Amino acid sequence: MYTPACSLATGTAIFLNWFSQLSDAARSYIRVRKFPTGFLYWHLTMARVVQKFGGTSVADVGRIKQAALRAKAEHDQGNGVVVVVSAMAGVTNNLVELVDQMGSLFDAREYDVVVSSGEQSNAGLMALAIQDLGIQARSWLGWQVPIETDEVHGKARITGINSGELEKRLAAGEIAVIPGFQGISPANRVTTLGRGGSDLTAVAIAGALNADRCDIYTDVDGIYTSDPRIVTKAHKLEKITYEEMLEMASLGSKVLQTRSVELAMNHKVRLQVRSTFVDDPGTFVVSEDEIVEQQVVSGISHSRDEAKITLLRVSDRPGVAAAIFGPLAESSVNVDMIVQNVSEDGDTTDLTFTVGTGDLDTAVNVLEKNRTTIGIGTILADPGVVKISVVGVGMRSHAGVAQKMFTTLADKGINIQVISTSEIKVSVLVAEEYTELAVRALHTAYGLDAE
Ligand code: ASP
Ligand code: MG
Repeated sequence: MYTPACSLATGTAIFLNWFSQLSDAARSYIRVRKFPTGFLYWHLTMARVVQKFGGTSVADVGRIKQAALRAKAEHDQGNGVVVVVSAMAGVTNNLVELVDQMGSLFDAREYDVVVSSGEQSNAGLMALAIQDLGIQARSWLGWQVPIETDEVHGKARITGINSGELEKRLAAGEIAVIPGFQGISPANRVTTLGRGGSDLTAVAIAGALNADRCDIYTDVDGIYTSDPRIVTKAHKLEKITYEEMLEMASLGSKVLQTRSVELAMNHKVRLQVRSTFVDDPGTFVVSEDEIVEQQVVSGISHSRDEAKITLLRVSDRPGVAAAIFGPLAESSVNVDMIVQNVSEDGDTTDLTFTVGTGDLDTAVNVLEKNRTTIGIGTILADPGVVKISVVGVGMRSHAGVAQKMFTTLADKGINIQVISTSEIKVSVLVAEEYTELAVRALHTAYGLDAE
């Protein structure tokens, strides 16, 4: 006798059994849906992948042809592919230099026309290289997509992407090649997204297309637990969270533009940082819930781009911090770590903070100018410091992370000058000569050394 309930259950069981035996890769092409009646059915789908190639990956015609093979491989698997290209390595710098040589007639709109051209020619070349492999491809300049931005030339923000036409072409199997870094303003002028902005283009396109992955092809093969040039036992991370990536400035910012990581976090775009030149998988930058076995500490980063300023005998009254940091902010000096002590006598106190090495002279000049009005005794400047940070989202739920850092450094006889913390990071300032010693000791202490 025919019993729908029974056959539904059996059918579902058979289906689930079959489905569970498929590899992850095979499953990614299958979408399981449910009819309102409860029947499960499945259909094949193509994944959408954005591939972004950085300047060294498309540095000449040979390399563009190599990169095109990566696009083909993805396309051969039945996926919808968008390729975002940078300018050839060094080209953007040369274009900036040409604008500088043109002299003082500075019009940021024309600057953008000039500096965006390196990406434009590479997009055309990449489309040709892909066509040469027998696959339909065309280039889409920023204004043709369009990638809409505001009018802040030189570092415009993306305000919207109309991806309708792209979607149609992808569905028809055509590869879209988009130059990174460029957009179009409301006044119909070409804009650029700030240096390193091709990453931002890739992430924004991936977000607009709801892509399954945004692969950032570069000349490093992933994100490491520490700088491998210092820590030989550093290892490549399989996954890292967006927040950690943002905090690990010295490990990450040379690889991915910070704004692009923020955008990826907001739109939950899964990024993969990988090398164009080797085949291994890279590091996935993903949200926390995708990481099953979270380490307490994911990495040790350091930044030599720090200088320490100490103000002795600062008058201790309301408004003094505002009087010190206001003029610095007006002079575009970014202040990072700050410590102020309670004053012993109620009259004066000492204050220490850090600024970027490049801002040290400006900061000292600004402070000297305001020294007597603010009431500062002595200004001491020290560029010989390094900021070392331990980073990990796991420290939200684990106590003792900072303590381990302090004892590890103490055991090595390293003096800590300034400390600052955030929810997922503990940073200390130490004398620059201890950089290697401190980073290696911490890498070992938190169990990050590769076997
Ligand atoms: N070519 C641009 C730059 O060098 C954008 C990029 O490559 O990300 O800044
Ligand atoms: Mg870059």
